[in-house]
Amino acid sequence: MSDTNAPKQLYELGPIGRECRFPVAEQHETIGGFLFCAKPVKLGLVYCNHHHDLSAVKGRPRGAPRQN
Ligand SMILES: [Zn+2]
Repeated sequence: MSDTNAPKQLYELGPIGRECRFPVAEQHETIGGFLFCAKPVKLGLVYCNHHHDLSAVKGRPRGAPRQN
C-alpha cells in the first residue's frame, strides 16, 4: 500500500464507502474545519483499514468481532 492519497476536504470526498472519512488534520479555513484521510476503503466501510482499526480500539461496541 502506498500513501499517495492526500487528505481532502469534506466536500471533496465521494459518497460514503469510497474514501476514508477519518479527520486527520485541523484546517480552520476549510468548511467543517478538518481534512479527511480520503484513502480508498473496503466496500461498505467508512474508514480505511488503518483508521478502522483506530476507531475500533477507541470505541469498540460490545460483542463486535475483532478484525485483525
Ligand atoms: Zn483513513
